[in-house]
Amino acid sequence: MRKTLWESLTHGPVTDAPPAPDDAAVAELAAAVADAARRRLGRSLSIREIDAGSCNACELEINALNNSFYDLERFGLHFVASPRHADVLLVTGPVTKNMREALERTYRATPDPKWVVAAGDCALDGGLFAGSYACVGGVSAVVPVDLAIPGCPPSPTALLKGLLTLLG
Ligand code: SF4
Repeated sequence: MRKTLWESLTHGPVTDAPPAPDDAAVAELAAAVADAARRRLGRSLSIREIDAGSCNACELEINALNNSFYDLERFGLHFVASPRHADVLLVTGPVTKNMREALERTYRATPDPKWVVAAGDCALDGGLFAGSYACVGGVSAVVPVDLAIPGCPPSPTALLKGLLTLLG
């Protein structure tokens, strides 16, 4: 115990240094997404996130969009709890057999016009879990996909760029 305590006090953190924050670029990107949403929809953009079986690292990056650094709500982009209020279904993970029906029902419950975004390599084609007995495959194996955002996991900036492409 004493040895562990000593080592943790004398050694620095083993994680990588964080990337330099570029607040201006993120703000510009988020404002562009908000403008595009107003142009296309006449209002702000509502996003319903669906974890169809991910390892949750994609969710960590998506959650970061709501933290005080990215703070997407200031641009009128918000996550909603019900698919009935959503414009975009942001789906992560390979679709597991247990989540297939939930994804189909969520898709049907979302009013038109709607877009489906597959976020992360697993959502594209099953990623690391492709071929697993527990998975159906990527999101497109279950519902039509309008946009795929690659990455394992995709960064918040990549997610914002993806949303902009979708609305542009
Ligand atoms: S793409 Fe990577 S981070 Fe996202 S669910 Fe798959 S393994 Fe996890």
